Amino acid sequence: MRYSHLFTPLKFSHWQLNNRVIMGSMHTNLEESENGFEKLARFYQERVAGGVGLIITGGIAPNHSGALTAHQALMQTEQDAQNHKVVTHRVHQAGGLICMQILHAGRYGYHPNIVAPSAIQAPISPFLPAELTEIQIEQQIADFVNSAKLAQQAGYDGVEIMGSEGYLINQFLVARTNKRTDNWGGSFINRCRFALEIVSQIRQQLGDKFIIIYRLSMLDLVEQGSSIDEVVSLAKQIEQAGANILNSGIGWHEARIPTIAAMVPRATFTKMSKQIKQQVNIPVVTCNRINMPDTAEQVLAEGDADLISMARPFLADSDWINKAKNGQTHLINTCIACNQACLDHVFEGKLASCLVNPRAAHETELNFTLTAQPKKLAVVGAGPAGMAFSIYAAQRGHQVSLFEAQPRLGGQLNLAKQIPGKSEFYEMLRYFKNQLIENKVNIKLNHIATPADFNEFDEVIVATGVVPRQVDFPGADSDSVVSYLDILTGKTQPADAVAIIGAGGIGFDIAEYVCHFADKAENPIQVNIKPQDDSKVQQSGVLSAKETNLVDEFTDKWGIDLNLSVRSGLGKAKVEKSAKTIFLLQRKTDKVGAGLAKTTGWIHKMELKQQGVAMLSGVEYKKFDHQGLHINCNGEAQILPVKQVIVCAGQESLAELASQINDKPVHIIGGAYLANQLDAKNAIKQAAVLAAKI
Ligand code: FAD
Ligand code: NAP
Ligand code: SF4
Repeated sequence: MRYSHLFTPLKFSHWQLNNRVIMGSMHTNLEESENGFEKLARFYQERVAGGVGLIITGGIAPNHSGALTAHQALMQTEQDAQNHKVVTHRVHQAGGLICMQILHAGRYGYHPNIVAPSAIQAPISPFLPAELTEIQIEQQIADFVNSAKLAQQAGYDGVEIMGSEGYLINQFLVARTNKRTDNWGGSFINRCRFALEIVSQIRQQLGDKFIIIYRLSMLDLVEQGSSIDEVVSLAKQIEQAGANILNSGIGWHEARIPTIAAMVPRATFTKMSKQIKQQVNIPVVTCNRINMPDTAEQVLAEGDADLISMARPFLADSDWINKAKNGQTHLINTCIACNQACLDHVFEGKLASCLVNPRAAHETELNFTLTAQPKKLAVVGAGPAGMAFSIYAAQRGHQVSLFEAQPRLGGQLNLAKQIPGKSEFYEMLRYFKNQLIENKVNIKLNHIATPADFNEFDEVIVATGVVPRQVDFPGADSDSVVSYLDILTGKTQPADAVAIIGAGGIGFDIAEYVCHFADKAENPIQVNIKPQDDSKVQQSGVLSAKETNLVDEFTDKWGIDLNLSVRSGLGKAKVEKSAKTIFLLQRKTDKVGAGLAKTTGWIHKMELKQQGVAMLSGVEYKKFDHQGLHINCNGEAQILPVKQVIVCAGQESLAELASQINDKPVHIIGGAYLANQLDAKNAIKQAAVLAAKI
């Protein structure tokens, strides 16, 4: 079998798993939505049907003070347990196991009633926590136990105790957040007491037929975190206290180091889990940036862990395991680690979903049922909107032809994939291409569609995308004023000193591209793919399984010490300024980057800062000439000494074709419909919604 390690069953205590992948904890906000438990049940049920053997739910707080937000669902009363029964019942019916994660946010809570070992405010919460008294600490432990009991009553097979990512238990463990001088602070043994009491009391009171998973922070990545000796010692004590499985946690949420975003090379942190696996006798789970079967297989084969935990990849594809098992890896819809529809949504209080799979967490509402009236559909434009629509519509039984002017599928995804840190877009292209073939969509490349092409069709879907917006000031017509398209298609090379007009997502991406272009003149952009050849995109595993070649560069850049020779693994970051002079400009007076996504924007800003990119807001563009770009910046005249201006000033819809078709229904989707605030997430979602009803 191709993935012999992945599909070797694992026995632990009283249980057996048929494969080595578990679905990790991920809050979807479904619990808090209308009819949410029914929706959650369906969401998990589909993942078990897709091969998942063990699910860990999103974090559920044991009491109000531990909730992440004032409205978060709790497991505190019999009624709470009753609400969850539909979830456990469906998972068991489908043949899976499910553990409820108990998460006490401590000082990370986003409401005024938060508590912590010491009254020290977290940099990521506006609220100051109250310091717990000793009696209150005992009560918190009792609430964890109560929550575990109610979870058992609700039918859960066990619990995961969230002891990592900087939440309450982690806050007790380290001097950074625990300044107590009583039995719960000071010495390491005192700081561990809270975690150990929780695990041992749950074990004592719930018996040995109840799974306890403990999520251990292996690498805190914050000042005054745990040392390697402390991590190993805690792991052993947690095992002794009665845990069945140790899961890995990497980085506190307040750490300013990326741990799951797209620029983190695949399987960067599994070595940490290996260090713990060698010290304990219970199964160890590893995680973070494992999204394809080849990666998971290699991690297991190298003995880094006994189990792999994946969360976001199961949003992207509920059938991930079955596809890996049945030789259909090339059809896996890969999580591209963008966070755009999952974590960013949750932080905004919206339902989680997935950029590449808008059905995720919407399983009861968005379905592609077989149509009673198959139609002949012409789709124009093979960007994400056109490709996604074609696949979903074909799955419903429609006969679909897809016209694309370019010699390749993908539209702007072919530009996005070239940006350093965005090579997962190759997997997205591989998925779309294979699904189009699988679903027998008639693909016509190199074909600029005109109304004459649509005679034999019942309806036309216009997904022709966008054109870059032009700028207008004296000198803007110079050959040295170019668009991001010119740069990314290779028509023009970036000059040594450039000004980028527009600091949206594409402006930031172009700045990153230009920085790296200078670093690697021979091989301009480091893309993590094996063959840099589009013809190979159809194969599965276009990217290296485990990006070991990139890990050192990444860990050096961010100052991560995977050997934990320094406390917390927080080494010195290697700052390398770009050889290029780059100005990133916007007219708005807000801070540059203020509009970027919550969970990843800070990383892009830090990266550009480290490379010496100057970011200016409140800019008025006056003219471009041999001296450079003349601007007014917050009212002050300046000349930026640049040789080239790269325009990233947004886009405008390209939908002319739609107005030329008068004899049949026409639908406009993606950028062609609305260019403002367009992204691949919106393009695919719009395509899916139309395909579900056409
Ligand atoms: P497009 O992708 O523009 O596709 C339209 C297609 O229609 C093109 O292939 C075009 O050739 C074809 N076409 C046009 N007219 C005709 C015709 N008459 N006949 C046949 N074919 C025709 N979005 C994100 O969500 N996350 C990101 O991280 C991200 N990064 C990006 C990075 C870069 C550098 C760029 C440029 C974009 C990025 N985007 C990102 C944006 C995202 O790629 C676009 O929003 C998305 O591709 C728009 O999809 P679409 O299908 O509407 O249009
Ligand atoms: P965008 O985010 O709307 O940014 C456009 C930029 O151009 C803004 O900074 C805007 O700022 C400026 N601008 C607009 N009109 C201008 C004009 N007439 N003259 C000069 N400047 C002008 O669009 P984008 O960067 O093109 O990105 C397109 C879409 O792709 C976005 O939805 C984006 O989210 C998505 N995308 C996402 C990512 C990601 O990593 N998630 C990456 C790339 C792209 P001022 O008006 O202040 O000057
Ligand atoms: Fe992965 Fe992006 Fe989907 Fe989140 S939205 S699951 S990061 S592909």
